[in-house]
Amino acid sequence: DKRKVVYKRRLDTLFAMRGTNKQLCRVMSSDFGEEIFQLAFENFCEVSDATHGIDDAPPTMLWRHKAFFLTGLGCQTCDAHPTTRKPNWVFGVRMCKDCLQKHTVIHQELQDESWTKWATYEELTKGLPHDEVQGWSKFFKSAYTMIRYWRQSVKNRKALLRHAKTPSERERICAPPAAKQDKQLLEKKAREKRKEALKAELDLIGCELRADSKLSELFIEGFPKSLRERKKWTAKKVAERMAQMKYLHEYCREFKATVQGWRREINDMFDHYGHGYGNYTYEVTGFYSLGAAVRDLADTWTRFPKQWPWLVQPAT
Ligand SMILES: [Zn+2]
Repeated sequence: DKRKVVYKRRLDTLFAMRGTNKQLCRVMSSDFGEEIFQLAFENFCEVSDATHGIDDAPPTMLWRHKAFFLTGLGCQTCDAHPTTRKPNWVFGVRMCKDCLQKHTVIHQELQDESWTKWATYEELTKGLPHDEVQGWSKFFKSAYTMIRYWRQSVKNRKALLRHAKTPSERERICAPPAAKQDKQLLEKKAREKRKEALKAELDLIGCELRADSKLSELFIEGFPKSLRERKKWTAKKVAERMAQMKYLHEYCREFKATVQGWRREINDMFDHYGHGYGNYTYEVTGFYSLGAAVRDLADTWTRFPKQWPWLVQPAT
């Protein structure tokens, strides 16, 4: 894939810039730099499976840290495995199997230790990053699932719990770490920026921000669950989509007639057969709810006018 080569080179350039001098380093470490590294990282999502699972990365990890793992190869703690490629995003490391094993502890190992005097297993592990791996039991001749925790995290937690005197103290220890202040601020600013951008695009095509538009809401939130969606939807595209919806629901006779026809048919079936003889909505539309059918019709609609009717000046 040629894109991969290009993205890789771009990323290398970004890190080279960071190493050039103090001023550039400061720029690349700022909010602005974070945005650029995030973009560079997200480009990689299309071409490399090394990015899979990035949503599980520790909340304290910066984009430039994440991006750094895409620039090279090899286990970060030993020299024996120079080809290790995929990072483990849950723990935010790139390590070979051996090193990962050394640094992690599985839940079976924790179950009958002395710490049970001070806290429960739940208190020991609550909120700690963890992943699952398959083990093989020679004794039972079957596979089993192991939950892995970062050894040092467990050790720290144990030390804290040991000195905790009251349940509320233990609760505070187990609470998830608050996201860094500046990170929250950064996200808030990014949300505002996206909202402004969308408003500007909507303005251009004579539409408004709507509270009932799921798509615009997701866009402003930055599609937190999906990198693919985030890359796909620009402010312009979201605005365009919203204009299409406005057209269908407010202007398109054919669309309205189709929905109206469904409604009539469903009602006729009710009148004719009465209640409880099958799902009429499904029989008419192929969907279990009319809302879903209308959404699907809108999503698959392809006939739109060249110019939006609400922008056309009425003839005088
Ligand atoms: Zn290693």
